Amino acid sequence: MMRKKIVAGNWKMNCNLEEGQKLTSEIVNMIRDERSKDVTVVLNPPYVHLLSVKKLIGDIPGLSVGGQNCSDKDSGAYTGEVSAKMLASFGATYVIIGHSERREHFKEDNKELTDKVKQALNNDLTPIFCCGESLDIREAGTHEVFVKEQLSESLFGLNDADFARLVIAYEPIWAIGTGKTASSDQAQEMHAAIREHIASQYGQPIANTIPILYGGSCKPENAEEIFSKSDVDGGLIGGASLKSRDFMDIIQSF
Ligand code: PEP
Repeated sequence: MMRKKIVAGNWKMNCNLEEGQKLTSEIVNMIRDERSKDVTVVLNPPYVHLLSVKKLIGDIPGLSVGGQNCSDKDSGAYTGEVSAKMLASFGATYVIIGHSERREHFKEDNKELTDKVKQALNNDLTPIFCCGESLDIREAGTHEVFVKEQLSESLFGLNDADFARLVIAYEPIWAIGTGKTASSDQAQEMHAAIREHIASQYGQPIANTIPILYGGSCKPENAEEIFSKSDVDGGLIGGASLKSRDFMDIIQSF
């Protein structure tokens, strides 16, 4: 089954304007020169960079820009928030939803995330929906149950057509920004469990089309091994997406 391969860079709260432009220009130049054409690359900078990143990437095929979050509301008196509609108007086509840092620091819960996913879909953005367990859950051996619950509670109210538009990112929290990576077998095991869970609700044909990305200290040194697993369709990359050469090497790992 050929699924879309995606490598998305999550800049988090990094880069001033000049740094963001430099990073984007370097990536654009490398992609022009080197990229194999069947990987979709998504840059997810902080909101304030969207316009300049979009301008720099222009219409290069397979290179997209996305948000790191969006509001669960349409518009209105929500100071500091940014809507999915605004993201789309700046040329974004993807948005990360439910990153563990948003769940932890901003207390985003499964219900709020459902509303964010709906906002994204209603505005033609592809949600990259994050799930993943903490170290204590992994050590207790309940990681599969926990992640399945995250998916069911936030996503399983969607109809088939909407669900089929999602990208899932499995990000074990204990591997994010820690330098610890899940082994490729641990990643495969969880990705397969996620796909099976999706199939139990939406059927195997839809489950087979959903890209499931791995996130958590993915680097040029381990990307090839992780991406070689049958249910791993790419990566959501934090730290290494801030270094153009590393990010490009990860893209080339397929
Ligand atoms: C992330 O924040 O989505 C992530 C995977 O971070 P890192 O690659 O730095 O672990």
